[in-house]
Amino acid sequence: MVVKDLDIAKFGGTSVGNLAAMQSSFKVAVSNPNTKLVVVSACSGVTNILVELASGSCNGAKTEELINRLRGIHAEIIAGLKNQSELTAYIEERLSEIRNLCVEAGMSRSDALTDRIVCHGELMSSYLFTELFKENGVKARWFDVRQVMRTDSSFGCATPLVEVIYSLVQEKLMPLLTGDEIVITQGFISSNSEGQTTTLGRGGSDYTAALLGEACNAATISIWTDVPGVYTTDPRLVPHAQPISELTYLEAAEMATFGAKILHPSTLLPAVRRGIPVYVGSSREPELGGTWVRPATESHPPFRAVALRRHQTLIVLSSPKMVGVSGFLAQVFGIFAKYRRSVDLVSTSEVSIAVTLDAGTQTSGQSSISEDMLEELRSFCHVKVEHSLSLVAIIGNDMSSLPGIATKAFDSISSFPVRMICYGASSHNLCFLVNEQDDVAALQEVHRHLLES
Ligand code: ADP
Ligand code: ASP
Ligand code: MG
Repeated sequence: MVVKDLDIAKFGGTSVGNLAAMQSSFKVAVSNPNTKLVVVSACSGVTNILVELASGSCNGAKTEELINRLRGIHAEIIAGLKNQSELTAYIEERLSEIRNLCVEAGMSRSDALTDRIVCHGELMSSYLFTELFKENGVKARWFDVRQVMRTDSSFGCATPLVEVIYSLVQEKLMPLLTGDEIVITQGFISSNSEGQTTTLGRGGSDYTAALLGEACNAATISIWTDVPGVYTTDPRLVPHAQPISELTYLEAAEMATFGAKILHPSTLLPAVRRGIPVYVGSSREPELGGTWVRPATESHPPFRAVALRRHQTLIVLSSPKMVGVSGFLAQVFGIFAKYRRSVDLVSTSEVSIAVTLDAGTQTSGQSSISEDMLEELRSFCHVKVEHSLSLVAIIGNDMSSLPGIATKAFDSISSFPVRMICYGASSHNLCFLVNEQDDVAALQEVHRHLLES
């Protein structure tokens, strides 16, 4: 089943963070007659509070304080709506469920329980947003995305089962999109085959929108956020950052992978599989325009953007036994695979190998490096672990084939100590690992040299 010219609009946390933001987002959604499916995040700040509640470390008073903050965020929105008693009852029911689950978390925390707690953020925001549509005379239907967003059981950062999602969406969601109602659903949350709640990892609502776009054969996916499009770098860190009107999937995917928070790292995968263009714009100021992410663009500059990814850990493994011996790398990577740690940068010499590990997007935020993993590594080589590092990634095109690229890039970072460099594996990025305390200054300097001329 196909709905012609279907647009899926995703509104992030700040775009539904309070009544005024919800009202702007409502106007954006109804201004496009093709927007039939709306995906929302939890109200800004809510997921952080829920993650803290799920950590199992809150005493009774702290739990009540956090629950009160949740109540306040949603009450501000309800105060601007008509159907106040029913909405308040719905939120109170969610809050009491959260409180009960927190008691369980206090006894024994788990990723599965965290997902059961954090899902309430998106459930509450989508419920209030649906009511706002209805009260403004627009036919709208609230839909629990867990009916169709099927994943495996890796709680906290689950893997979507794309084919199952396709069948479920075609069966349960598409028929709703052919009528005159706008369907409003949740990002980030999902369920496994046993009906247990899972989540797609922090920032996962973008990914939900893209997965639904793929399963619905959408014509466009619109990501509405708090900045008017994708910039040459994070405009909050570099005031001279410039908006980019068009980006290729590849460039946008590299930016997301290397820390540009504007898109969840996996967002582009479903869009690429179906060739769906993705638009990124500001829900508060849609008139400022935004960025189109497409299969190809007219320009492909060598330097397109710079991204910053914090909380990197460097592990240096060395062993004199490595000289002339095969299988060392396989052994090391086998251990990382066993502990499900994804390796980002790699650099090797005759007797050592250095890799960086990312903090990841696990919903609980708990991704510390396991002592057991380090012990296994120590059993056959010397292990040195360094924290407090950040990755500055330059993203562009033909970077490993054009002359002069390395000189310009290295010049741009020459005032800072660089712990590691990765260049050559991809023609779309060049990465520097720097000390966390230098990261913003390094980002600004690299941006100034490469993107402000
Ligand atoms: P949402 O809640 O809408 O998903 P996010 O906070 O996840 O919003 O993402 C938007 C933020 O991404 C912006 O406020 C900005 O600080 C940050 N960001 C990082 N890199 C970029 C970039 N290259 N262009 C635009 N914004 C960026
Ligand atoms: N609410 C979730 C988070 O804060 C998902 C999202 O906003 O995309 O991570
Ligand atoms: Mg986001």
